Amino acid sequence: MIGRMDTPHNRVVIVGGGQSGLAAARAARDTGLHPVVLEAGPRPTGAWPHHYDSLTLFSPARHSAMPGLPFPGDPDRYPGRDEVADYLERYAHGLGTDIRTNTTVETVEAGSHGFTVRTTRGEEIPAEGVVAASGSFTNPHLPALPGQDGFTGELLHAADYREPAPYSGKRVVIVGGGNSAVQIGYELSGKAASVTLATRQPVRFLHQRHNGRDLHDWITQSGFDHLPPEWLARAVGGTLVMETGDYRSALETGRMRRVPVFDAFDGDSLVWSDGTREPADTVLFATGYRPSLGYLERLGALDSDGAPRNTGGVSTTHPGLVYVGLEFQRSFSSNTLRGVHRDAQHVMAPLAAHVHGAPATVGL
Ligand SMILES: Cc1cc2nc3c(=O)[nH]c(=O)nc-3n(C[C@H](O)[C@H](O)[C@H](O)COP(=O)(O)OP(=O)(O)OC[C@H]3O[C@@H](n4cnc5c(N)ncnc54)[C@H](O)[C@@H]3O)c2cc1C
Repeated sequence: MIGRMDTPHNRVVIVGGGQSGLAAARAARDTGLHPVVLEAGPRPTGAWPHHYDSLTLFSPARHSAMPGLPFPGDPDRYPGRDEVADYLERYAHGLGTDIRTNTTVETVEAGSHGFTVRTTRGEEIPAEGVVAASGSFTNPHLPALPGQDGFTGELLHAADYREPAPYSGKRVVIVGGGNSAVQIGYELSGKAASVTLATRQPVRFLHQRHNGRDLHDWITQSGFDHLPPEWLARAVGGTLVMETGDYRSALETGRMRRVPVFDAFDGDSLVWSDGTREPADTVLFATGYRPSLGYLERLGALDSDGAPRNTGGVSTTHPGLVYVGLEFQRSFSSNTLRGVHRDAQHVMAPLAAHVHGAPATVGL
């Protein structure tokens, strides 16, 4: 279908129907704007259904809700992947805003009303503002090491991992020392012949429960949740893995082992700088993601690495363009279910001011 849509006054297009897009839709609605959420997938659930089967949240249900809809069930339990997807779908229905699924944004360009949003179906949607809330799951980061193309084993990213059965009896090397690396490694170590974590630094753990209470009780009450990224880097100083006791013990007892990151691939083997070589059947990169913002490239809103030029989620290149859901956008809780609404509200004030033609009254 190719079509051009009328411009209702104050329309803002929100790209992405995950928790960030839904938080943005709520904030836009409450600011008197007309949000239209465009979501590539069939449900407004974000990336959650695409994560591995056994994923459970680090944050207990009481700290995993968005404003206006408590997470159902025991507030102290850790919900699973599918429960989060169902929760978000209910949240979306309750918003009463225009959410269009199976609609992928191809480009955003400057237009007569501010922006023209083009979808892969050929629609052109004029918008006075745009919220980029498209997450990062569709843009996994894969390092390129010498010899990688010639590796005879299997290479995959954590985004493609589902369940341990296919790795039964295999020698698996996981690159990365974050939560996904350790969780997947632990799960595989019950099935695979061997599991090795290749990490730049020794894995650092943070215990999930203290005196019978979840760490999130403290994180949310102490102000830690609101720490700006530069303070956070100083306070934490690198990746910490949430720990219940099992992961540390798996490393200490040899159920998983940890080695430095190898330098290169060579045929069926991995090669370290001291000349050590080891064969591997599978190398799984748990090396993170980058923002999925390719649709903004032509607009000129991104830097040469594809990262958004912004301050606190407000574009520094295009008035009327804002971001929600960037990692550490404004704080530790920016990219979480419990915290994303704060960023959505923050960017909505300058966006609304732009759409209404008034100067922004909120600092960046
Ligand atoms: C393993 C793991 C565990 C986590 N655990 C927790 C936890 O315990 N508690 C917590 O609060 N947070 C947790 N998080 C962090 C966070 O909640 C998630 O990363 C969350 O999915 C981010 O939401 P989002 O809406 O920003 O992005 P996404 O969920 O990725 O949603 C983005 C949406 O945009 C759509 N999209 C992308 N490009 C386009 C396009 N061009 N056109 C239209 N639509 C598009 C996608 O289809 C997707 O639905 C965890 C994350 C991971 C990876």
